[in-house]
Amino acid sequence: MNSDAVVIDKLTKWFGKFRAVDEVSLRVETGEIFGFLGANGAGKTTTIRMLCGLLLPTSGEGRVAGYDIYRDTEKIKRRIGYMSQKFSLYTDLTGYENLWFYGSVYQMAPRELKKRIAELSEDLELGNFIKRPAGSLPTGWRQRLALAASLLHRPQILFLDEPTGGVDPVFRRRFWEILYRLADSGTTLFVTTHYMDEAEFCRRISIMHHGRIIAVGNPQELLVEHRQASLQELFIQLITQQECV
Ligand code: ATP
Repeated sequence: MNSDAVVIDKLTKWFGKFRAVDEVSLRVETGEIFGFLGANGAGKTTTIRMLCGLLLPTSGEGRVAGYDIYRDTEKIKRRIGYMSQKFSLYTDLTGYENLWFYGSVYQMAPRELKKRIAELSEDLELGNFIKRPAGSLPTGWRQRLALAASLLHRPQILFLDEPTGGVDPVFRRRFWEILYRLADSGTTLFVTTHYMDEAEFCRRISIMHHGRIIAVGNPQELLVEHRQASLQELFIQLITQQECV
């Protein structure tokens, strides 16, 4: 049986004459927390959008939850959650109304949806924030609400594109505790982040630069291999080496 949640082989995306993703190959095992790192514009969001069935690749192969990213996009969408970098909630609706709306989009039955919202509200400790208009919430709470929306249909694989951008350290730590609980319950997490301390929470990471993967592995093993003391230093070393080629 194939235990890979994500398999990509030479995935490539051209926008006109610009190659945003350049022959990326990766495997992410079921249940793992995989960190997808890279500087701004490296091609991370473009890769995630191809994996989520939102953008057609130019070439290469890919399977998500066992389904082909060209042919089976609808099947993939039912099995994954996607928390995008952009705030995806309706600002004038309350948190509860937003969750109700997204649950309806997933065609969840009202009784099931009500139960699921109550469950997520407790798990993610949304408390009274769920009753407030989403637009009025502090960033950290908005992000938690967006996470709840992406989890409504119990996805097997969750893609998180910079889920903690602009959030304070305490909130980030609590957000990661929630992610750990999700991973413990068997959800595969594919996370982009700019925060190197968060990268250390991942079982494996990859570093992307100008559309290519320049390193992949367990964070501690990568540090030993490249003789670096911190992921920050490793990141800078690898990017600088590439710039000098
Ligand atoms: P960030 O951390 O800033 O979100 P990223 O690694 O997610 O960066 P992408 O958003 O994937 O990077 O963008 C990769 C490159 O592709 C960038 O140079 C971006 O300007 C370009 N790009 C992305 N989408 C398009 C598009 N629809 N048309 C043309 N160029 C695009």
